[in-house]
Amino acid sequence: MSRTGPLVFKFGGTSVASPPAIASVVKIVAAEQGERLVVVSATAGTTDALVQAAQQAAGGDAMAAQATIERLSEQHRNLIADLLGVNGADVLGEVVDLTERTIALLRSVALLRECSPRSLDAILSYGERVSAPIVAATLSANGVAAEALSAEGLLITDDAFGHANPIAELTRERVAAQILPRMRYGTVPVVTGFVGSTADGVTTTLGRGGSDYSAAVLAAALDARECRIFTDVSGVYSADPRIVPDAKPLPAISYAEAAELSYFGAKVLHPRTVLPAVEAGIPVRILNTFAPDEPGTTIAASTPKDDTVVKATTSLGGLGMVTVQGAGMSGVPGFAARVFDTTAAEQVSVLMISQASSENSICLVVPNESVKPLESALRKMFSKELARHDVEKVAIEAPVAIVSAVGEGMRGTPGVAARLFSAIARAKVNVLAIAQGSSELNISLVVHEKDRETAVRAVHREFHES
Ligand code: ADP
Ligand code: ASP
Ligand code: MG
Repeated sequence: MSRTGPLVFKFGGTSVASPPAIASVVKIVAAEQGERLVVVSATAGTTDALVQAAQQAAGGDAMAAQATIERLSEQHRNLIADLLGVNGADVLGEVVDLTERTIALLRSVALLRECSPRSLDAILSYGERVSAPIVAATLSANGVAAEALSAEGLLITDDAFGHANPIAELTRERVAAQILPRMRYGTVPVVTGFVGSTADGVTTTLGRGGSDYSAAVLAAALDARECRIFTDVSGVYSADPRIVPDAKPLPAISYAEAAELSYFGAKVLHPRTVLPAVEAGIPVRILNTFAPDEPGTTIAASTPKDDTVVKATTSLGGLGMVTVQGAGMSGVPGFAARVFDTTAAEQVSVLMISQASSENSICLVVPNESVKPLESALRKMFSKELARHDVEKVAIEAPVAIVSAVGEGMRGTPGVAARLFSAIARAKVNVLAIAQGSSELNISLVVHEKDRETAVRAVHREFHES
């Protein structure tokens, strides 16, 4: 059954960062007819620079923060001059305006020497709020009537600043009021990705890489026909092409595979992107702005059956491992619960858990910056047991990385783990911990950060290059 409804296009950072890239964006959008919505990221590097400006301001260096923003403003003004020439006056005015407001925000951060998550979101929104009008004006100048819209007041979220959660019903109402009428009149709305707001209009962001998520949320709110995520590679590859140059794009993956892949480090897709699409049954395609005729990767509920076991190998770095170990805890009820009470109280996000079969130890893999605070909180939680030697140690290992092999074909296929571990052993990589998802869709290993790329290449070679 083929779907009706508008088409949603999302263009990532490199896809909007240069005149040739934006020319390609125009071609891609113009090649389709009918109702279309475009979601854009900030230009590549801009959000990183904004984070830096916020840090400079929080450190009291208002001058440095201002210089950072002025550099961004200049880059965008150059882009406007190249793309639109004298016709860019209105957009130029918008950029100047937004720049002034952001400088004012940074000054108040510098005065207070503190940047709250709420202020940070307001500062970070600058990137998408300047890229959207540039893309919209260029589309219009090339015969595709378009209008830039900030997702503030449109994509409604809770107030979890920095990683806000969209509220589907409220977003759907706003989309019906603001987007549908524009599309009916033949205008292509160009909406800021990554950004949202609370119901009463306070700016929020969806977390780094969140423009993909914005596109999926808006696609769901629109009952879109398809959500096309345009990036700088030709789809989801069998491994990060920067680590494995021989990696190949996958023609099709399931929602479940996409969720696992992105969760375990395939940066090409934000981990939360698939959920709104799954719920609405909207196919998601990953395509290349710079080679739009390549087939890319289709993500949908079911994928054609093939005989691949491991579809892709991913890795996630910047992590640390905390192990609570003690023979005295074996079989003691509530041991694991106390470990997780501690992670919850410290608000640590746990990426992977592994329990030794002897039940003597629990390993938690967490972001590097959480390792020290979690270690001391666990020492406090188990201080009596440590004194009695029921808990022998709370140990840390950092930096580490998770390497994951993902694929529906692993389910029920015997011997996958054995092949995986032999391949890792042949590459002389030491495995620190192992976990298998209950869905049998992935096997994940923890390795030292220094072994990360070697491990990814070894797994890829075993399953894809033989
Ligand atoms: P965008 O700005 O378009 O959102 P990203 O930089 O967020 O782009 O994501 C695209 C990048 O993801 C690629 O350039 C690639 O280096 C990286 N990547 C990591 N793992 C994979 C993978 N398995 N397949 C494709 N790309 C991957
Ligand atoms: N600009 C944001 C970031 O760099 C969101 C995105 O690009 O998806 O994280
Ligand atoms: Mg991205």
